[in-house]
Amino acid sequence: MGSEFPICKACDNNGNLLPLSDFGSQGAPIHYKAWVCSVPSCGYNIKIRNGDVYINEPISSGDSHVPRTRG
Ligand SMILES: [Zn+2]
Repeated sequence: MGSEFPICKACDNNGNLLPLSDFGSQGAPIHYKAWVCSVPSCGYNIKIRNGDVYINEPISSGDSHVPRTRG
């Protein structure tokens, strides 16, 4: 039904693996650098870094970047 993404085999929620892209240090786009399951409770992810494949690394959201306050 139009689903072009591979099925996540790590969960039974019929999740799809969504391709994520990044930008290199030179600003060149890196397509499909990582794949993440569309089911948040699954969290299965696979990514490529420097030619190595990493599976199920912890996902960190951008919100974790909290400015430190003194007090
Ligand atoms: Zn999944």
